[in-house]
Amino acid sequence: MKKVFCLLAAAALTSGQVKAQLQCGTDQVYQQQKKDNPQIGIYEAELNAAIKDALSKTDISKFAKTTATTYDVPIVVHVVHDYGNEYLLDNDIFQAAKYWDTVYNKQNADTADVITPFKKYIGNPQIHLHLATIDPSGNPTKGITHRQSYLTVNGGDQAKMDDWDNTKYINIWFINKFSAAHTGAAAYAYYPSSGATMPYYDGVIGIYSYMSTDKAIPHEIGHVLNLQHTWGDNNNPGVVCGDDLVSDTPPTYGHTSCLVADLYDTRCAPHTPAICPDTANTQNIMDYSYCSKMFTIGQADRMRAALIATVASRNNLYSTSNLVATGALQARPDLAPIPDFSVEKGMYSWGGRLAERSFFICQNSTTNFVFRNRSWNDTITDVAWTFSNGATNPTSTDIGGNVTNSFTTPGWVTVTLQATGNNSGSTTISRQPIYVASTTPEAAGYAQYFSSTADFAKWPMFNYYNNNFKWEYFGTAGYPNNDGCVRYRGYDYRTGNDAKSGTPIGDYDDIYTPALDLSSYTSSTLNLGFYTSGSTRSTSTPGDSMQIFTSIDCGNTWVRIATLSGTQLINNGSRSAEYTPTSTSEWLGQTISIPATYRTDKSFFRFRYWPTDKSNDFFFDKFAVSPWTTEIAELKDNPNLVKLSPNPTTGGTQLCFTTGTDANVSYTIRDITGKVVFEHNAQYPTNTFIQENIARSTFANAGMYIVTLTLSQQTVTQKLIVQ
Ligand SMILES: [Zn+2]
Repeated sequence: MKKVFCLLAAAALTSGQVKAQLQCGTDQVYQQQKKDNPQIGIYEAELNAAIKDALSKTDISKFAKTTATTYDVPIVVHVVHDYGNEYLLDNDIFQAAKYWDTVYNKQNADTADVITPFKKYIGNPQIHLHLATIDPSGNPTKGITHRQSYLTVNGGDQAKMDDWDNTKYINIWFINKFSAAHTGAAAYAYYPSSGATMPYYDGVIGIYSYMSTDKAIPHEIGHVLNLQHTWGDNNNPGVVCGDDLVSDTPPTYGHTSCLVADLYDTRCAPHTPAICPDTANTQNIMDYSYCSKMFTIGQADRMRAALIATVASRNNLYSTSNLVATGALQARPDLAPIPDFSVEKGMYSWGGRLAERSFFICQNSTTNFVFRNRSWNDTITDVAWTFSNGATNPTSTDIGGNVTNSFTTPGWVTVTLQATGNNSGSTTISRQPIYVASTTPEAAGYAQYFSSTADFAKWPMFNYYNNNFKWEYFGTAGYPNNDGCVRYRGYDYRTGNDAKSGTPIGDYDDIYTPALDLSSYTSSTLNLGFYTSGSTRSTSTPGDSMQIFTSIDCGNTWVRIATLSGTQLINNGSRSAEYTPTSTSEWLGQTISIPATYRTDKSFFRFRYWPTDKSNDFFFDKFAVSPWTTEIAELKDNPNLVKLSPNPTTGGTQLCFTTGTDANVSYTIRDITGKVVFEHNAQYPTNTFIQENIARSTFANAGMYIVTLTLSQQTVTQKLIVQ
């Protein structure tokens, strides 16, 4: 079995009496993984043979009495966070890792509380767990990494970013919560056979609150060293008497509570061979009881046997050369701080964060931003903040406290934080996390055709998670000429192991318009018009979407006015190669109605793209505000075009064209048999945009009609579908 979900119910933890009702499809996942990866079964057989061979040379009755070789193993803790509660502190990680090591050397004080029948079976794995002091690049480390990611709230294998070589370190990731696929899991681990097959996922991943909860992580490391649950290799405790291949853990149902009846459960007795008590070992770390205190001698032996086996190169972890390479036996170095800060826009009166991730505000807004020192890697003794854009620079700052600020000058705000560490000097970080918009609006008739990087710079772009999936200027495509446009880079060009984690699912990125003055429009309708061109790498319905928001309070609050998805967004189907539109037919005119409420003298619009793991690139161009639909607005600019809108129609339609210098115009409408149903001949003003209403009553029946229009020496014929 490769992947083990450990269902550790918080309710069971606090009361000790509540049955965990959590389920997960471990068996299905396991069977699927093994089906997809036949190599897992091969490694499993190889490891089982190696363990059997090692155990045949061990006398268990002597094991507990002899001093065996101690194995030292480097570990690394990866904090995958979005600056929430999952942002684990160094000192808490040091303390947790020390406790895990205590458990793996039978030094945990609660072994004293093991019930009498099992006292003489308590095993000592004699495996020392050390946070590494040298990283894979050879640089000094405290054995901790940080990564900001949306995947912290959608955890699973894809959240296992920044993995360190699994033959040199045991990787342990912490996240905020698991994805729906792992609902109910507190943590899960990979057995050696899975780790050998998918080395980039090898290790343990768990919810941050379980780092120091009971023995959740020692339990997971037990799986990394090939231990099963005491009732067997599934996540269904309490179903049947099961066994775990370990000779001195009695067969058991497995327990999710720790009542006397659980501790002295003899439902699986008697059993053979009678090497251990008839009572279930409910206090075993590989049970779910939340009163776990011990491994057995047999489990310690099996873990040691898995560690010295070659499967997943577990036997390299403790090698002398690896201990030197990872600095596992060296004292933790005193390193300079890694400066970091988080930003939140505003706070609710009760102190909670605004859920909205939007660092966009008008100049002179009274909304404050909250800046929080998140520096790590050293004990921070002092911090100093510097802010641009007319903000106040604090003279002294509480290192743990928050700083609030607001801004008067438009443009990107540079925030600089200097963190001073304990004995190790100061380090500085500068970022531009906030955009301050000018309150001087663009006049009516605003359009943006994105013909240069300077054009694009007028629309602030936020790549919130600083990754490859983002909005950017693209110079060699566009509508109607390839003269530049905006691209959402959704195509995932990572290859090999780089592409094994960090899926775009859950990411989103924004671009914003300047303030637009919409107050002078008197038409009943007013639209955002733009052209898009999208493709996907998916062969089924693409999951991409683009949400369009507006704000009429200077970026404080945003209201969604439209969402584009499906073929409305991805209009060019599936392409496996990276997509770029090359002809006008690949672009789609989009018309988004602006509700009257949002037509103010300073209306902002925000375009938020949500990619998926099968996204291709998406293009956006020729933005304008007008009373017309996007297609009609285009006709007004192009005298040679003629359009019927709507077409198809369930009612009447409009025949739209622009006259030239010769304004003699005639048009006829014929039905499918060629019979003329409408005829018109007239003199119009020259160089004028014309919309001719053609009533539904013109068409006797639903069906196809042919419209022929002659103007300025040219004749245009179009089909009209009446439904
Ligand atoms: Zn487990």
